[in-house]
Amino acid sequence: MAKGNHIHWFSASVWHLTCTHTSTGGCAMTIEANDAATRGSAAVPQGIELSKGGADVWSPSITPPIGVELTDEQKLACSFRILAREGFSENIAGHITWANADNSSLMVNPWGLWWEEISAADICRVDPDGRVISGKWDVTPAVQIHTELHRRRPEARVVVHNHPYYVVLLAALGLVPEFLHQQSSMFDGELGFVSEYSGEIDSPELGADLAERIGDASVVILANHGAIVTAPTIEEATYKSATLDRQCKLMYDVLVADRPATTVPPMVRPAMKASLLERGTEVYWAGAVRRLIREEPDVLE
Ligand SMILES: [Zn+2]
Repeated sequence: MAKGNHIHWFSASVWHLTCTHTSTGGCAMTIEANDAATRGSAAVPQGIELSKGGADVWSPSITPPIGVELTDEQKLACSFRILAREGFSENIAGHITWANADNSSLMVNPWGLWWEEISAADICRVDPDGRVISGKWDVTPAVQIHTELHRRRPEARVVVHNHPYYVVLLAALGLVPEFLHQQSSMFDGELGFVSEYSGEIDSPELGADLAERIGDASVVILANHGAIVTAPTIEEATYKSATLDRQCKLMYDVLVADRPATTVPPMVRPAMKASLLERGTEVYWAGAVRRLIREEPDVLE
């Protein structure tokens, strides 16, 4: 496990984090296994060839379509409502930003609307510094959490931030979700924890500082704050975000159960991750959008 640069990577076990600031402004972190949660990975069967996973092994010849062609604004509005239904949002908090190909502007939600009530016509567009270019509403300076990440991480076209309940529960305990279920394999090698808290982030400087701490992580838990998920597409960003809070809830429930539990062996996670992301993302998204449009067709307006 690498320590330093204020971003802490996790790959195998549950860790309890204690972070104290040094006199030089650094981050001194002690890590110890949580006794109640100390566990090993499940055994891998010997003598059989394990799946390599992903689209190379199998990809469907046809998948059920959404049934309607969506604009990017409609896709983004759907993502807000899907994640609100999953419990990812906290009333007025949070943003999802989606950068265009050359990062010259970002689509984003406006200040004042809850995620579950956003429709396509509410989506605003801001420049790379967070100034509103178009849209009928205003955008909070807290979008600086996103603008600086987009600047540093052009591959992270979509950035999701909010305060999902089980994420902030684990964050308060200094924990990140362990690989307790195969679905969490989609976070393999991408999970990070930012242990410092700097208050409201509403300036480019503060946004740049946080982006620096996040580094290359794409699934990040912020101490005493929430989650940041980045992805190259709106579909993957939505899938990963919904999965994150569910895995944090599983982690919490396992801790409360206070019984020995096993984790997904590290050696099989990459194949499972490939299958989940390469094969699962499209159909997760299509199903979530179909259900949403059936029940809340005004999302497309
Ligand atoms: Zn926040």
